[in-house]
Parts: sequence; C-alpha cells; structure tokens
Amino acid sequence: MLENTVENGERPAELIIYAASGQAARNWECFHRIVAALRVLREDETLAVQSGKPVAVFRTTTTSPRVVIANTNLVGQWANWETFRDLKDRGLMMYGQYTAGDWQYIGQQGIIQSTYETLAACARERFDGTLDGRVFLSSGLGAMGGAQPLAAKLLGAVAVIVEVDERRAQRRIESGYLDVKTSSLEAALHHVSTALAAGEASSIALIANAADALPELRSRGFSPDIVTDQTSAHDTRNGYVPNQYTLEEAQALRETEPAEYERQALRAIREHVEALLEFKASGAVVFEYGNAIRQQAERAGLGDAGNIDGFVQLFIRPSFCIGRGPCRWVALSGEPDDITAIDEAVIHEFADDSSVTSWIQTAMRHVPQQGLPARTSWFDYRQRVRFGTLVNRLVAEGLVKAPVAMTRDHLDSGAVAQPTRETEGMLDGSDAVADWPILNALLNTSAGADLVAVHQGGGSGMGGSISAGVTLIIDGTDEGQGRVERVLRTDPGIGVVRHADAGYETSRELVRSTDLAVPHLTG
Ligand code: NAD
Repeated sequence: MLENTVENGERPAELIIYAASGQAARNWECFHRIVAALRVLREDETLAVQSGKPVAVFRTTTTSPRVVIANTNLVGQWANWETFRDLKDRGLMMYGQYTAGDWQYIGQQGIIQSTYETLAACARERFDGTLDGRVFLSSGLGAMGGAQPLAAKLLGAVAVIVEVDERRAQRRIESGYLDVKTSSLEAALHHVSTALAAGEASSIALIANAADALPELRSRGFSPDIVTDQTSAHDTRNGYVPNQYTLEEAQALRETEPAEYERQALRAIREHVEALLEFKASGAVVFEYGNAIRQQAERAGLGDAGNIDGFVQLFIRPSFCIGRGPCRWVALSGEPDDITAIDEAVIHEFADDSSVTSWIQTAMRHVPQQGLPARTSWFDYRQRVRFGTLVNRLVAEGLVKAPVAMTRDHLDSGAVAQPTRETEGMLDGSDAVADWPILNALLNTSAGADLVAVHQGGGSGMGGSISAGVTLIIDGTDEGQGRVERVLRTDPGIGVVRHADAGYETSRELVRSTDLAVPHLTG
C-alpha cells in the first residue's frame, strides 16, 4: 500500500502524493527504512511511524495493529505553518494530509465517488435528481480535483474546470478523467453551448488562472448552475498559484520571495472568492469543497466569504449520521479479476441498496483503474460488516486470490474533526471538539485494525483539523473475520455515536435500533 501510494502520487520522486504537499514518507531514506522494517516485521510486532519516519518496532500481540502512525501533530498553540515549516526544514516533520501519510492513496479513483456523491446530493436537493443540462464550474485538476470533470459528467452535467497548469489537465485527459482542454475562453464557452444544445454530458479544462477566469466568465454573462473550487487554497505557499504571474514567474517568486508569494496568493484568492460570491448572488449553487478557500479569503480581508456554505453541511451530513462514508478496497494480488469478483458479489449482496449497486455498475464501466486494482463505495454502519464478511468469505473460498486491504478516506463519519468541513455547523456546536477522531483511532487499535493513524492539518491546512485513518487486511481467516466484525463496527460506530451525541435524531434512532451500546442514550 505504501508503494502503491507513492506510485500513484502526483510527484513520486519527491514522495509528494496529493494536495500540494501531502507526503507518504518523510524522505527516501525513511521510505527505504520503513520498507525494510515491514519486510521483517513479525506477526506480534508493531512498527511506529512518526511523521513519515520509522521510529520503533515494539513487541505487541498478533491482534494489534502492525503499523501505527502519527503525522503532522503539533501542540495546539503551535499548530501553524510557521512552526511546521521550521520543523520540516530541520527534517523533523512532514505533511501527512489524509490518505497520503498513511498509505491509503489510490489516485483519483479514491475521490471520484465522493465527488459524485456530493454532486448527486446537490442534484437531488436542488435539481430534481439529475444534472442533465446543467453546467458545473470549478477549478483545480490536481490529484483530488482531477476527479471533478468525470464525476460531473457521470451525472449528466457539462463541466468546465479552470486549471492553471496545462500539464495537470493533460494528465487527466490521459487517465480518462477529462475530455478536452483549451486555453481560449471563447472556445470553452463554445464547447459548453454546443454540448448543452446537443444534450450531451461533457468536460473541458480551461487553462487559465481561476482568479482571472472566474471574474471574466462572470462578466461575459456565463451562468453555471453549480460552482465550487478544488485548487489547493489551503496552502498559500505551495498550493494556490496567484494570478498576474505566469506559472514560471510564480514558481520563481515562490523560491526567491516566499512571503511575497503568499501575499500574492491571498490577494488572488480574495479575487477568486469575490467571483464565487457573485455567482452565488446570481443564483448558482456555490459551496466550498473542503480546501479552506473561505478562511483564506477572510484572512485576505473578505468578510463575506463565510456566506459560502461548506459541502458537508449542505450535502453529506445525513450520510455521516448513519455511519455512511467512503470506503475503498484494494486487491493485494494485483489482479483486476479480484476486483471484478468483489464487484459482482457486492451487486448481489447489496441488491437492496441502489446507491451501492448503481455506483458499482457505473464504476465498473467508467472509472479507470490506477495502480493496484481498487474500488470504492459508500457504506453505512450496518453495511460495512456485511461487506467485510463478504470479502473475507471470497478470499477464504479462493474466489479472490489474495488478501484485500479495506480502508477509507479520513473524510468519514467518525474519523475527523474539521470545523470548516466535516464538522461544520454541528447541531450542538461541537464543531471543534477533536476528541472523536482520537477515540476513533483508539477504538480501531483496540479492535485490531492493521494500520491506525492520527493526523493533524489534512485538507484544512495547519491547525485546522485532527483526523484518523484505518486499514484492515481481510485475509480469509477466522481470525480475520473477527477483526472485520470488530473494526468495521468500531470505525463507523463511533461516527454514529458522535452524531447521536450531537443530537441528530437519525443517529439516535440508529443507536437505539442496533447493537451500539451508548449508556447515556439508552440509560
Ligand atoms: P493538488 O495540489 O494536487 O491540485 C491543485 C490544483 O490546483 C493544481 O493542479 C494547481 O495547478 C491548480 N491551481 C492552483 N492554483 C490555481 C489557480 N489560481 N487557478 C487555477 N488552478 C490553480 O491538490 P488536490 O489533491 O487536487 O486537492 C485540492 C484541494 O482540495 C486541497 O485543498 C485539498 O485539501 C482539498 N481536498 C478536498 C477533499 C474533499 O473531500 N472535498 C478531498 C481531498 C482534498
């Protein structure tokens, strides 16, 4: 999984996986030392990794995690970029992001369903269930943002994604996530009107800076139905590219005058968000897609930035309330047939839930594979154990040839505290309480997950979130079945409890009607 993460990353040679600076290991020496430690790790030992560096192997038990990881955790008052960069420059830390630092990254196929789910929820709530004939405007075709054009297209929309770096757009065309690109605004507008007239879903990248292109599109009367953004605005040093500079000039400024680069990036973000607000004022559905662009615009003095809502609050919270979130699984055999066998079994097992079956069918047809064969699906609290049990049986019967790594995004029901994203606007105002992801990690460790990680920073940038990652190796054994039944309850279960505790009635009802024991709710 570590090698697969690096191989599918945006800049493998630098161990940079996604979101501008998310890393899988602190440096190549640490990478090789991790690999060497894993190769000889015994079944009753646990490797400890501190911000991408292997620091110890301890004797534990056969049911303990084989790997525990802590990434980018800074003491609250010091959780800022200045401290982090100082520590990073001195070789003491790395940025773990979400699935980079704990070796769960599977390329755009890991995010596409989440983007699809978000846009599908938007379609249900705002557009009668479909995006047919709708226009989706966003920016950023990076590691995560690169999933946007395909997700929007799968829902019937015409997608325009502004991307400053043509190479990123080219990469998405080559991987099958994007149809075409242009650096001409007129050509992009023409593409949209032609696709709309023909009633065809389509995607186009406009090679430009979003801080220039969005106001320009706006001034030409372009009226998209949905507008969001996936530039790496959370990182004004290495992520967001300021307008008024070519890409090369911006790169040079970043190296020679980093403080000035950040000032320019903040200024540009403000212009970008002003355009988002104007699109909202003219009736578009506008939301922040988890890249902290609102807070950055506020830092740049734009008081109204908070008028843009966050996507979890708007579209995802009901899923989190029932422990529903983005699971992913990877065939460690490397055989695509293993994923097909699981796909077919899932379609049969979850015939009662069209959100699962129609997604798996869509993914089988349209989602290109990257690296080790993998698949995703959103599963709720009850469904996760059913899924794990199904896969364990397939491995035991030899229908799947090797163990399967089951994992998930950190963006999940009980795995993250991020007051501008996953926990924004909680019913009881507990947005910033970070005890829950810590409990998630402790419970998953107790339950015998194979890898457990706690990260700070994630998609919000420094000081913005605490999150937990988990990986379970489903190996077809009875012992493996025990871990499936424990971990796939604790992991989403604490998410249901977190939402029940915050007062969400669907979560409370789920607690009452299942095996979740919550003393203060059940008496
Ligand atoms: P990335 O760094 O790989 O890609 C960002 C892209 O934005 C790059 O291609 C870059 O060239 C482009 N860009 C930067 N400035 C631009 C500008 N001014 N105009 C046009 N394009 C510009 O990052 P990523 O992995 O794609 O993640 C993007 C953001 O989304 C991050 O902030 C990340 O934290 C966040 N994120 C959100 C979710 C979610 O669930 N919503 C998940 C993962 C990441």
